[in-house]
Amino acid sequence: MLATLACIGALLRGSAVPAPTRVHQQRARVSASASPPVRDCLVVGSGVSGSVLAHYLHSSGADVLLTEARDVVGGNIISRTDGEFTWEEGPNSFQPTPTVMRTAYELGIADDLVFADPSLPPWVYFRGELYALPKNLPGDLINFNLLSWPGKIRAGLGAVGLLLQPPPEKEENIREFVTRHLGEETFLRIIDPFVSGVYAGDPNKLSMRAALKKIFRLQTLGFNGALVPGALVRFEEIAQEKKDNPPAPEWPTYKAGELGSFRKGLQTMPNAVAAELGDERVALGHKLRAVSRESDGTYTATFQTANGERVVRAKTVVSTAPAHAIADVLAEVVPEAKRLHDIYYPPVAAVTVAYPKEDFKNPDLPGFGSLNPRTEGVRTLGTIWSSSLFPGRAPPGYNLLLNYIGGSRDPQIAELTTEEIIAEVHKGCQQVLLKPNAPQPKVLGCRVWPTAIPQYEFGHLELLEELEQGEARAPGFYLGGNYRTGVAFGDCVQFGFDQAERVKAYLEETAASAGVAGAIVAPAATSP
Ligand SMILES: Cc1cc2nc3c(=O)[nH]c(=O)nc-3n(C[C@H](O)[C@H](O)[C@H](O)COP(=O)(O)OP(=O)(O)OC[C@H]3O[C@@H](n4cnc5c(N)ncnc54)[C@H](O)[C@@H]3O)c2cc1C
Repeated sequence: MLATLACIGALLRGSAVPAPTRVHQQRARVSASASPPVRDCLVVGSGVSGSVLAHYLHSSGADVLLTEARDVVGGNIISRTDGEFTWEEGPNSFQPTPTVMRTAYELGIADDLVFADPSLPPWVYFRGELYALPKNLPGDLINFNLLSWPGKIRAGLGAVGLLLQPPPEKEENIREFVTRHLGEETFLRIIDPFVSGVYAGDPNKLSMRAALKKIFRLQTLGFNGALVPGALVRFEEIAQEKKDNPPAPEWPTYKAGELGSFRKGLQTMPNAVAAELGDERVALGHKLRAVSRESDGTYTATFQTANGERVVRAKTVVSTAPAHAIADVLAEVVPEAKRLHDIYYPPVAAVTVAYPKEDFKNPDLPGFGSLNPRTEGVRTLGTIWSSSLFPGRAPPGYNLLLNYIGGSRDPQIAELTTEEIIAEVHKGCQQVLLKPNAPQPKVLGCRVWPTAIPQYEFGHLELLEELEQGEARAPGFYLGGNYRTGVAFGDCVQFGFDQAERVKAYLEETAASAGVAGAIVAPAATSP
């Protein structure tokens, strides 16, 4: 079974390299005459999805405007530095993919990449002890005591297809799927905390085929519906995909199992996009309030800004704003977008604290973090050992910890005061990591995300199908972001790349049918 987990990790990391395509700026320019000018693409939301999309459009010659309701780019990526501490207040790291590496290279931030030592394991807190998840298989399994021997045997047999019940007629949630394949013990002690760590979600409500679709698919690949045979087939597929689309030699390289970030944190990437686009193509403090489709197929968007309303016209519009924030506005063009209100985003607090090393039971913290199963009475979902993960995150003598607390099964977190949240986090650190009587921490950040991560619950895929049908009736208008293409940083970067290709193809197509030479209007100096 743990081999399965290792396979699963590698599968989640592995992805095909998209075929590079570019539309170069040498194309004939089409002058923008009307006022306001008609942009090639209006991108709504400057999180990683919107930023990366804007980069790929801009670098291929499109006239793009990246708009953002807040006064900074990055969405829920917020990286902070104060003195010798550097910390994250949203996501903490990414699993490298060829597209993430390519994007870093193109933005000139490849030298800022940092990677965690892949041998650092995640730990699970269980019955008062921390257990490292095995990294070296099968050797580490002998001493892996988080699972009982019956639990290990059940998981192992299920993973290869013995003891495996056939799938039920109805859709399975994550708990049902994992329990059927690997047994209840593996679910409770490993997968449940993992799901809390990734989604801050409830495995009883998350749809397996929507939330963990790469793992769900494994059962369809092997010869007997089991995960290990499916994983072996998938590895072959990945190897073939890599062969067909090898990464360019100039892109940064990474090792399997590494987690990545940038020296000064993840916000380096959206910041680099904003610097590349320049002030004239990034409009901060612009909140989309209304959008309509004109008879000529272009779109008119109205933004609320500090200086009043601003109208922007564009041939294409891509929304990357969170579902709940944008449903009503998008519904003016795609009525099905009203359904976006049905996607649940639970609250999560990200709390970064530092303690002197001598206050830890193990001052070295040899891992990338610890997960707390919901059975163990620790309110914190998981703790990233930030100073063990990446260099330069804390001064010598301190360990820096990023704690996530709240989620679908603890939405009450949003009702606590900052002091109460910090007290809960400190209590959790005392239970899991610290010596008794460790002093209060140095608190670097406590940010509550009232609507943190979209939950891919039952019905999610059907909802996305409805959106797709609605989109088809509004050519050039796209609904995107992490509720659609996956919540991981790497998924959002991949969305940015793929969506740029879709927008470019649409612009090419419409220009061709209108008989215009050159599809993409080269970037022109236009005021924000
Ligand atoms: C606490 C937390 C921890 C996480 N940890 C990890 C992790 O460690 N690794 C990982 O891979 N993933 C992690 N994730 C998930 C990942 O960070 C997100 O899925 C990803 O950053 C989402 O990017 P996005 O661009 O799709 O959306 P967002 O970041 O939400 O960006 C959308 C943007 O749209 C803007 N907007 C909203 N309404 C409007 C409007 N009307 N007009 C204009 N703009 C608007 C918003 O202000 C926002 O800037 C985490 C997420 C959270 C919340």
